Amino acid sequence: MFVSISYLKGLIIDLDTFKYEHSKWLNIHKGMKLLFFSTNQILLNNIEQLDQRNFYLANSNPFQFVFNIGSFLDFFSILNLRSHEVAFVSSSLERIQLLQKHLPIGTIYISKSQSLNYNDVGKLPDIICQRIEEINIIRNRKNGYLAEVAAESTVNKARLEKLQLVKTELDNDHCFTILSGGRYFNTKDPRSSTHQLSKRILKSKDNQLNNSHLFVSIYIELLNLIKEADSIARIPPRKGKPDRFYKIINSISKTIDIRILNCLKCVKDYPSQKLFSSIDRTSNVKGAFVTDGSVKGRNIVLLDDIVSSGATFRECATELYKNNAEKVTLITLGVNQFHSSWRFKYHKKILCKECDGHMVLRFNSKKTNKPAFFGCSNYYSKNKCKFTLNYSYGLNEYFQATDLTNLTNEDFARDLDISF
Ligand SMILES: [Zn+2]
Repeated sequence: MFVSISYLKGLIIDLDTFKYEHSKWLNIHKGMKLLFFSTNQILLNNIEQLDQRNFYLANSNPFQFVFNIGSFLDFFSILNLRSHEVAFVSSSLERIQLLQKHLPIGTIYISKSQSLNYNDVGKLPDIICQRIEEINIIRNRKNGYLAEVAAESTVNKARLEKLQLVKTELDNDHCFTILSGGRYFNTKDPRSSTHQLSKRILKSKDNQLNNSHLFVSIYIELLNLIKEADSIARIPPRKGKPDRFYKIINSISKTIDIRILNCLKCVKDYPSQKLFSSIDRTSNVKGAFVTDGSVKGRNIVLLDDIVSSGATFRECATELYKNNAEKVTLITLGVNQFHSSWRFKYHKKILCKECDGHMVLRFNSKKTNKPAFFGCSNYYSKNKCKFTLNYSYGLNEYFQATDLTNLTNEDFARDLDISF
């Protein structure tokens, strides 16, 4: 789903990356304003000839030579829309990643391929479409990555099946396939402040919130996509740490026909992977896991909540393959996303209307479906402020406060001309 868009009203289209599909834009919903940018006049002329009332043309390219942030302020102004109503559309993942690094703008990546390179899964766009026309079905926030949508709403199974997943391979030889339900934003990333999936995963880690029901339904959706999986196992907890997936795996095996394997054991007292860079994580877990003969010939699905470098999965899977496992696949709720300090530049806290506190994403632990809401940061202080906002209202406040069109050209001028 979009992390910075409330309801999509306009598209900023990177025309250079769509050279042969001009007429497809005619199929986009008429209520949406489309701005095409390119310095290639022939491409712009082709679009102009399509003669559409809601088409806007800009003879500029913010990605040419240096990345020009100011161009986007011009684009919002031409469209007469706010930044949380507009998404950037490109078939270049590189340009989407560059934009995401610098500005909180929604992104749509058009790509025919369903699988992503592992190097790219830490910088995922908001939405991946295989065809331009698919943009029509993603206008509201209830579309996008399966686990993210599921974490925000009660959706039925038929709906979940149509949502997108993250599929990738650690290597090219298909030995280390990863299937994930969405993105995970860690607490250093401002996107985590409004992202329910990230907060639910984080709170489950330290047992502050029981999300088993939600997580089990996400894992089952992922499992159903893995052909011929016959066994399920979890990445074993580090020594002395609680076995967080024990209950979840048991619930899964009660719902679908799959064997639980307690095949992996952690035999090395290694420090948390969080303390290491991607390169050092491989040596940190080296030799940490052992397995037994029960894995021979089995098609095993390993379960974890977040994948970052993939080093722990690789180590576990290597051990399983050494003991003649047939196939090992990892399923996770989210892929850890890289963040950049640029995002904090435009991040704002939602202020409390009754005190000097700010609003924090929380979950109502007393209710069975545990809905999210925003509660005042002074709730636990001496003066106990009880001000709350429901989730969608609070989210809207956040979009209004952080909208890039609040900024002046002078604000932006300081950020112009960033070198690649
Ligand atoms: Zn307050």
